[in-house]
Amino acid sequence: MQLISHASDGRPRRLAVRRDGHLRDLTEATGATDVGELLAAGITADRLREIDGPVVELADDDVPRAPIARPGKIICVGLNYHDHCREQSIDPPAYPMLFSKFANAVADPGASITRPRATEKLDLECELGVVIGRRASRIGRAEALEHVFGYTIVNDVTMRDLQKEDRQWLRAKGSDGFAPMGPAVVTADDISDPQALRLRSWVNGEAWQDSTTAEMVFDVATIVAFASQTITLEPGDVIATGTPAGVGHYQQPPRYLADGDAMRLEIEGIGILENTVRDALPRSDDHESAAGIGELDATR
Ligand code: MG
Repeated sequence: MQLISHASDGRPRRLAVRRDGHLRDLTEATGATDVGELLAAGITADRLREIDGPVVELADDDVPRAPIARPGKIICVGLNYHDHCREQSIDPPAYPMLFSKFANAVADPGASITRPRATEKLDLECELGVVIGRRASRIGRAEALEHVFGYTIVNDVTMRDLQKEDRQWLRAKGSDGFAPMGPAVVTADDISDPQALRLRSWVNGEAWQDSTTAEMVFDVATIVAFASQTITLEPGDVIATGTPAGVGHYQQPPRYLADGDAMRLEIEGIGILENTVRDALPRSDDHESAAGIGELDATR
């Protein structure tokens, strides 16, 4: 099953499920307008199969929104692909390297992503997003996938300059709109092996990343179990599981995103997530001031 939160301009979101070739409304039966609300209400994939909502046809302007608009947690994994470690000439970490984003970072499919004045080194990262369906606390690896409801695509948008200058990654990766998500959540029963999915990204039609989740250093089950040892994972939480090689920063020469650039991310079996970069204006030629590292720019 594929779950889509959708809306046209000015109208409230609705949740729908694509099943047996039909898109069926779920909002009428469940009250939920996205996957996060559905899971918070305790609805499981088994229960979903029994809900027989009316068939809906989407108008042209009725488009997918982020499937989880306000995740309680967005947990991310750094350096989790062997090929991404190799392109940086570093050894893979000994255990998962977790960091976080907040709900301010969530952006809809198709939305413009603002390149802040604080950066001249904006980059993308195509990542498999894991959606938690059942509370997980101190669980083992063997049972971890039973707590996974489904999968989506997350773009771990990153400011490479601030990633280095701030000495940790909160602003570099957690800024407004830096977690475009969607276009759908595909339930776990439709993903036969989360460690055998091709992921790709393009910028303006040119291929940047082309890899597979088989390259993960720590697989989905290990990440879920690892996080759950001290963090209770709740239904609707999202884990972005890291990105493979090919990001702009490690290309030769390095490449970065700017106004008008079209990002396209695809994960096999899940879909395509597209967003366009828009520059916050005016641009500044004083990076330290624009980033707040030096004296704050009085013109902001
Ligand atoms: Mg990442």
